[in-house]
Amino acid sequence: MPDAAAPESRPFEADVAKLLHLMVHSVYSDRDVFLRELVSNAADACEKLRFEAIETPSLLGDDPKPRIVITADKEAGRLVVEDNGVGMSRDEMAEALGTIARSGTRAFMDRLETAQSKDGSKEGAQLIGQFGVGFYSVFMVADRVEVASRRAGSAEAALWASDGKGAFTITELDPAAAPARGTRVTLHLMEDARTYAERWMLERIVKEQSGHVPVPISLAEAGA
Ligand code: ADP
Ligand code: MG
Repeated sequence: MPDAAAPESRPFEADVAKLLHLMVHSVYSDRDVFLRELVSNAADACEKLRFEAIETPSLLGDDPKPRIVITADKEAGRLVVEDNGVGMSRDEMAEALGTIARSGTRAFMDRLETAQSKDGSKEGAQLIGQFGVGFYSVFMVADRVEVASRRAGSAEAALWASDGKGAFTITELDPAAAPARGTRVTLHLMEDARTYAERWMLERIVKEQSGHVPVPISLAEAGA
């Protein structure tokens, strides 16, 4: 019988693996967009919760105000983006972070492939900025990513992890180690992306790219 606590390893859908490969190998200069994508997902999750709470107010518990917290640990080269939004169940995570469900991403991939076969990766690189490729852009700056999540109203939590190279694992997570509600994304930054654990850098990007986000964003320092 499989051990329930053992990580369950699953391959990415073929298209995701392809997308990750293309993204990591394109000479893309504007890697900043990964943060915009994470913040926008966090804000979407808060909005989704607000909507669900109209019918089920108990989902908000004693924590009704939406928030996004970005925590940088320069020493460890780690960056964490956490929200108290709707969160994801184990199955939702496998679906949302393992497949390409969105037609936008598919269109992006088609364009990216065409562009790369034509003139290397330069034009393809620009496309990343145009399309907004979402969560998978984290692998432009991180060589390992963990997503701990707990669906609003659920006692259970799950942990998704991947190095972006073809597979991901999903494990049950001790609820004590998970957000009380919502999602925590932890990026283990690549050696050449460690500036993304610097406060001035994060401040600049948030200001430039996430100014319109309707959920308060705070910047914290690890250990502070
Ligand atoms: P999009 O945001 O366009 O749907 P993404 O690649 O950015 O595409 O995210 C894929 C999916 O992963 C989202 O649609 C959502 O279901 C899920 N997801 C990502 N981040 C979060 C989060 N912080 N909270 C809840 N769900 C999330
Ligand atoms: Mg998104």
